[in-house]
Amino acid sequence: MRLHPSFALLRFSQRTSAQRSYTNPCHSRPLTFVTTDVIPSYRKGFSCSTTVASNKMSSSEGLIASLYNASVRTPETPSRVPEDISSKSHHAKCRKGFQNPWPSTRLDKNYCGGYHGKAIEDTVPPVVAPQFPKSRSTKSKEFRATWLGHACFYVEFPGGLRALFDPVFSQRCSPVQFMGPKRVTKMPCDIKDIPAIDIVVISHNHYDHMDYNTIMELKKCHPNVWFFVPLGNKSWFTSSGIPNCAEMDWWEERDLVLSPADSESAAKLSESSKEGKKAGEITARIGCLPCQHTSNRGLHDRSSTLWSSWSVESGGKKLYFAGDTGYRAVPKVPDGVDDYGEEFKDLPVCPAFKQVGELRGGFDLGLIPIGAYWPRWFMSPMHASPYDSVRIFVETKCKKAIGMHWGTWVLTDEPVMEPPVVLKEALKKDGIAEEGVFDVLDIGESREY
Ligand SMILES: [Zn+2]
Repeated sequence: MRLHPSFALLRFSQRTSAQRSYTNPCHSRPLTFVTTDVIPSYRKGFSCSTTVASNKMSSSEGLIASLYNASVRTPETPSRVPEDISSKSHHAKCRKGFQNPWPSTRLDKNYCGGYHGKAIEDTVPPVVAPQFPKSRSTKSKEFRATWLGHACFYVEFPGGLRALFDPVFSQRCSPVQFMGPKRVTKMPCDIKDIPAIDIVVISHNHYDHMDYNTIMELKKCHPNVWFFVPLGNKSWFTSSGIPNCAEMDWWEERDLVLSPADSESAAKLSESSKEGKKAGEITARIGCLPCQHTSNRGLHDRSSTLWSSWSVESGGKKLYFAGDTGYRAVPKVPDGVDDYGEEFKDLPVCPAFKQVGELRGGFDLGLIPIGAYWPRWFMSPMHASPYDSVRIFVETKCKKAIGMHWGTWVLTDEPVMEPPVVLKEALKKDGIAEEGVFDVLDIGESREY
């Protein structure tokens, strides 16, 4: 079958696990804006959520049924930024678009973000039906992450914020649904099963992270949800009929305040809570951070929009979402040669993660990619191996992490179930416990932190 040109697929000779072993394994723009909108974060009888429609809420949960006014603004007291931020070295100088400003990137000229792997699919991760709370309380102390496959997570923050990361709820991660990589695991749920979503955070515009059909469904079910996207992506959202979109450069931040808008809740707003914020309010700080990747949705738009990792802090918990990233470009080495061996110890690593750790670190949880890494000589500039992922985990100063970007679509050549196995080897090599620190979940599984 002739494949869509957007995929410009490069095929490598197919490997089997027997044939190989894994050997190695800007300154902040002075932009200030306030937008107020009404977010129906949880509605009784909400047509897009049959689950929600059938639930009765107790009086203590009454606030959940409120509409929220959303305010998104640049913080008056921003977090620390790198000293050289004004150089904007990641903004391409000779063309429109962006670049990775580090020697740790050696982008293969053929790389277009559309590589199709032929990994072994005989085993795949288990899929369980996610259990979402039927209601939320702004007094909740729960910090819970649910893996919805690939890079998609649903995170419930203490205090009530509900965030969705890189949602793709389509069968194929492709410009079209009749060809392109098809899921090897079932979707754990539909968008309509998720009772509340306040923000959607997108790492970049590749099809396995930003999907038009999914975003249209989100718009239908949660019409006033806010999208946070890296620079250059806002026009895509605007032209898709989505005005609630904050576009950000690396190191920029926004403060989000969700205030109950109905009359009963508004009365409560006159009372100040002990934490200094108004009763019933949900607050969050969202930060756009660097990572090493690229972007494109067609053949002629490579790196024209920015890619990023993200921090989200709300209710006293801080999350790092690494997005899609490489860490260290490695050369082609024969099978059996360790590309983290002595010979390669001086290969440059992406300095962004250390900087994120120093300036913004101390994350309660990191969501870090561990898959789509083989062949290393080709994928390493853009996709971390589990050995790289453990370095990212350490350097960004995450206390715990969950591995993502695996087990959902076959995009590269490693066997589907290999990333978690190699992750354990990498943790052991770094003297980190193999379980309980940087784990993987079943698709649809939740864990509290
Ligand atoms: Zn990507």
